Amino acid sequence: MEQFEKFVTSTTLREDNESLKLYQNTVALTCPACGEPFDDMVVCKQEYTSLNQTMPLDLCTTVHEGRPVLFTHKPDE
Ligand SMILES: [Zn+2]
Repeated sequence: MEQFEKFVTSTTLREDNESLKLYQNTVALTCPACGEPFDDMVVCKQEYTSLNQTMPLDLCTTVHEGRPVLFTHKPDE
């Protein structure tokens, strides 16, 4: 994903643990998959990662250097 470095530097790191990094999109960057602004970008660090969502989310995915990258979108109200 060519925008990855821009996303990392433009967003705000909210969570960094052994399994994932979560960056919050506070500047309305658009998702490379669907073109809509995303809420969070999640970079999975391990081969297997489980995500627990607290609300229903639409997800877009890509891969960066072999790691799954997820973009979350809150459904329209
Ligand atoms: Zn998307």
